[in-house]
This record gives sequence, structure tokens and C-alpha cells, in this order.
Amino acid sequence: MAERIIPLVDQRLKALQPTIPARAVSPTGLLGDGLGRPLRDLRISVTDRCNFRCNYCMPKEVFNADYPYLPHSALLSFEEITRLAHLFVGHGVKKLRLTGGEPLLRKNLEILVAQLAQLRTPEGAPLDLTLTTNGALLARKAQALKDAGLNRVTVSLDGLDDAVFRRMNDVDFPVAEVLEGIDAARAVGLGVDGQGRPSGIKINMVVKRTTNVDQILPMARHFRGTGMTLRFIEYMDVGSTNGWRMDDVLPSADVIRLLQTEFPLVPLEPSAPGETAERWGYANAQGVHDPALGEVGVISSVTQAFCQDCNRARLSTEGKLYLCLFATQGYDLRELLRNGTADTDLSSAIAHIWQGRQDRYSELRGQGLLDTASDGAGRKVEMSYIGG
Ligand code: SAM
Ligand code: SF4
Ligand code: SF4
Repeated sequence: MAERIIPLVDQRLKALQPTIPARAVSPTGLLGDGLGRPLRDLRISVTDRCNFRCNYCMPKEVFNADYPYLPHSALLSFEEITRLAHLFVGHGVKKLRLTGGEPLLRKNLEILVAQLAQLRTPEGAPLDLTLTTNGALLARKAQALKDAGLNRVTVSLDGLDDAVFRRMNDVDFPVAEVLEGIDAARAVGLGVDGQGRPSGIKINMVVKRTTNVDQILPMARHFRGTGMTLRFIEYMDVGSTNGWRMDDVLPSADVIRLLQTEFPLVPLEPSAPGETAERWGYANAQGVHDPALGEVGVISSVTQAFCQDCNRARLSTEGKLYLCLFATQGYDLRELLRNGTADTDLSSAIAHIWQGRQDRYSELRGQGLLDTASDGAGRKVEMSYIGG
């Protein structure tokens, strides 16, 4: 049998070993990293597989039939994920986001949702439990997810024109089925926050200059006044396979300028510290934000770094903890989970990792201090592996 070649892009074999500190770090919910940033948001990747091949994320040429996806035994089980999530909550996490790959491809995902929905903060509050999906399987799964305790979904949708959408997902998937998924999610009430307050479904659109700029206005027309928030994401230099070029990035400021040719917009205050999106409200004839028309968001990860408030940690499909979307290595928590480490030690190890965190990739790139193809230490991990 021919030897299997692991492509250069595969960073999964490299891992940092967590240290269990000599003195236990109590879960006070007040943990700060090396730059004083709290830990509030845990993104959990439940699969590295996807039924789409968006070329900015999983280009077909790399993610083909020969790609070495993780075997099932490598994946964290639902029990392992819930155990870790519980420990992260003790250190201050208030929001859990399930992602991937395509999270709805993970079998029986609603069982994991039900387990995570039982978790409470040290103050006894439920968590904000959300999921990011491409929407292809949402119509089928929305009710079960809602019944299991999921609060909200974010649906990624890069255009309304069927031809553009089929080209972007690169598997010829029709846009109508994603729109059905969004309708189903709304119908079952997947648009509330952890406290049960209305907090609309979010729609994420990655803007690539050469591909879908002509979809910006149609998308805004479609979602304005629906209670759903459309957010435009700058195409990022995440991973090492998408052939990213600055020329393909349409800066958020240009997106806002384009929207304002048709809709008056006014800037809104951030709704939470560490929020990634800059908010703009649709204004009425008096130039005042009209909540009935809703809002749009722009996520400017390339042109405007927001590292100083970054309170997000990412758990990969196989249990590695990543401190930044642009990290080259993660800390192997699965090894601790599977070698009999006690919860107090595991919890202290997580705290110790966070306390040492200095990551601020976008800020450094913005200051011209990084090579954008690599940070110098190695190749960046793929978005489909650690989740968005
Ligand atoms: N498959 C799910 C989906 O598409 O929503 C969840 C995983 S996907 C990696 C999470 C988010 O990352 C999506 O909203 C996607 O559009 C975004 N994303 C992926 N690659 C990106 C890139 N190069 N630049 C900006 N956003 C990207
Ligand atoms: Fe799949 Fe989401 Fe990546 Fe598109 S962005 S390839 S849907 S994981
Ligand atoms: Fe957070 Fe890293 Fe993104 Fe900065 S570059 S906002 S540290 S994930």
C-alpha cells in the first residue's frame, strides 16, 4: 500500500503539553490572561468535516477525498466536551458556540446541546448557547436543537443569487434550502439569548472582493426589518490553504459606504464588551435608529484589530485549546482528559494556559509586524479545524 502523505497544511500533529501548576488555580470566574483579558467565550469545534467547500475556508483542491480528516476515535466525546465546558465556565465563560467544520454533520448533536444546556455559571445563570452553521441541514434539525436547549443560531450565507451562492459553496448547493433553514430556525424560536430575551438570528456574510460584492445590497434589502442581523465579515488570512491576498479584502468601511448609498445608517454602541462586530442601525427619515428596521454589523478582523478585548478561546475537534484564531499550535487537553487527570488539576491547567496568553495577531499584523502568510513560528491552523 502506498504511504499516506500528510499534507504540509496539517498542524494537528504538533501540540503543546499543558502544565499542571504546583498551586491550584481556583475557579473564581475572574481569570485574566497575560494582557488582562477575561475568558468569556468558548468556541467548540465538533467536527473537522463539512458538506460545503467555500474556497475561502476549505478549498476543494486541498480538502478532497485524500484529505486526512480526523478518525472518530480522535474526536472528543460529548461527555469529554461537557466536562471541559463545565471547567471553562468555572473560569468565567458565559457563552458557548458550537462550530466546525459543519457542526450539524456531527451525529446526535442535540444530545451534546442538551448536556451543555444543563450547565450554569457560578452565579447560577444559564449560559448563552449558540451554534454557527452553513444552514444546509438546518430545516431538518432546527426543532430538535431548540428542544434540546439551543438558544440561537448564526447562519453563514454569502449571497442570495443562486448562481453566486452555488459557486461560493463550490458543491452546487442551492440558496433556497439555506433560506428554508433560516425560516425553520425562526419558526421554532432559535433567536433568544441565555436569559430567554429576544436576540435575533445572525446572518454572517464573508465578503470577497472578486466574488460577492454585488450581493451586499440585495442581502441588506432581504434581511432589513426581519429582526435578523446581517453581519459582513472581512475575508481573513486565516489558515494556510485559501491563497489569501489583501486585494480580495473589501474593507468594512467600504461596505458601510455602499450600504449608505441606499439606506441611512447610524453607529450604535457595542452591546457587550469584547463584541467582534461594529454595529450600525438603520435610520428613519429623521436620521434616528429605527429598531423595527434593525441593524447590520461589520466584522473588520483585517482592517481594524479588536485583540485588546478578545475574550475567546477555541477548543478543536480533538481537544486542543487554541488561544487565537491565527495560532499555529494548541494545548493538548485530550491527553489530560484521557489519562485520569482530576478535575481540579485539569481546571488549574486550563487557567495556567489562559494566564500565559499574550496572543494579539491582528493587532500585530495591523502594525505591519507580521508576515501575513505565517507568523514566523509555523503555518496557521485551518478555520475548519478550530472553528470560526
Ligand atoms: N460551517 C459553519 C459555517 O460556515 O457557518 C461553521 C464553521 S465556519 C469555519 C465559521 C465561520 O467562519 C463562517 O461564518 C465562515 O463564513 C467564516 N469563515 C471561514 N473562513 C473565513 C475566512 N477566510 N475569512 C472570514 N471568515 C471566514
Ligand atoms: Fe464549511 Fe463553514 Fe468552512 Fe464553508 S465556512 S467550508 S460551510 S466550515
Ligand atoms: Fe483574538 Fe487572535 Fe482575533 Fe486578536 S487575532 S481578536 S487575539 S482571535
